[in-house]
Amino acid sequence: MSIKLKNGIILATGENGDFRVLEGSCIVINGKIIEYIGPEEDAPCADEVKDMRNRILMPGLVNAHGHGPMTLLRGVGGGLALQEWLETAIFPIEDKLTPEDIAVGERWAIMEMLASGTTCVSDMYDFPWKTWEVMKESGIKGNVCRVGLSFSDTEEIPTNRFNECVSLVRDYKDEDDRVFSEFCLHSEYLTKEAFVRKIAEINSELHANVNVHVSETRREHEECKARHNGLTPIQYLEKCGILDENTYAAHCVWVEDGDLEIMKEKKVSAVFNPSSNCKLASGFASIDKMLTKGVNVALGTDGCASNDNLNMFEEMHLGSMIIKNIKSDATKLNSEQMLKLATVNGARAMGRTDTGELKVGKRADIIAVSLDKPHMYPAFNIPNLLVYSAQGSDVVMTMVDGNILYENGEYKTIDAEKARFEMKKCIDRIYG
Ligand SMILES: [Zn+2]
Repeated sequence: MSIKLKNGIILATGENGDFRVLEGSCIVINGKIIEYIGPEEDAPCADEVKDMRNRILMPGLVNAHGHGPMTLLRGVGGGLALQEWLETAIFPIEDKLTPEDIAVGERWAIMEMLASGTTCVSDMYDFPWKTWEVMKESGIKGNVCRVGLSFSDTEEIPTNRFNECVSLVRDYKDEDDRVFSEFCLHSEYLTKEAFVRKIAEINSELHANVNVHVSETRREHEECKARHNGLTPIQYLEKCGILDENTYAAHCVWVEDGDLEIMKEKKVSAVFNPSSNCKLASGFASIDKMLTKGVNVALGTDGCASNDNLNMFEEMHLGSMIIKNIKSDATKLNSEQMLKLATVNGARAMGRTDTGELKVGKRADIIAVSLDKPHMYPAFNIPNLLVYSAQGSDVVMTMVDGNILYENGEYKTIDAEKARFEMKKCIDRIYG
């Protein structure tokens, strides 16, 4: 099956990795792959042709840090500080969640993400087997992990939790290479050294990605130093042998200059979560410094209880505003850099070098952003328009691996009415 997308404005990637805005060109997708980008007169024929007039075609957004089923906790505990938020608002609800709830909450999250242009998402939450299945059914791309936790220095590894982490990575393989299973360490403060070392050891054979929360709050960062003879979370994780190019670290708000050296050397990616960090008043990550040092930086929404939505356009917009202001420099983190955080850098962080760019030979993960609404005209500079003016609701088409999953308000792989009904049933039970 081949599709031609014609008459759109294309945000392609040139040979040097920079964006090129193409007008009067088309994209031809053959199966899962972008086969052609260029003038329509030279384009190969396709089975289906779609007119993308007044649409920007850009790479699908990559949400590199999230907890999808937390749609079930959207807005819960709003206004509380992090520790109180977790202990009094979040944990008591999470205790009630069943595997079936997870499937329902994840499906709801995927609907929100597809409708706002996310084609690939990282997910860290309970019952990941359910999340894995729902991602497979829906057609979205994602990385899924069993949350790595350990609480006792004296426990014998392997624990049940450790075995579950390993069996997810070993047993959940996707023949389409679309849903990845990976390792996770919740954080330095919720794992013990023996557990971290054992995950590092087994991953030297399995080569999966490792998803970890790092230095989200000042308290967590300082308590780690107090526990480990002055070592920061990054220094401690390095000592445990876990850090390499497969590792991607969410937040990194309080990382220090020495940590950035380690991240650069070990090729660890950082994930910027502007809304979540603002809502929980965790602070501002030094994104500009990370990029200057050569650290790969991606972008994420975090979960729905600390954001409270999964809209990557909002993250791009807010993240840009924050960095410009904390640096008192309007030239910092420009729109093209921000678009890379939200696309190709996120793909790289999640172990995917075959997506995140509109380029011949890459996977066809493409979204169409409408220029119809007043806030999208005039369109003098496409990257600026996408970061500073576009809304998630301007997305009119979302394609993953050449399959259209969402178009003009309709889902192709999800029964939206049934999903809403099931969501309401879960919410009524959990909060009733
Ligand atoms: Zn998180």
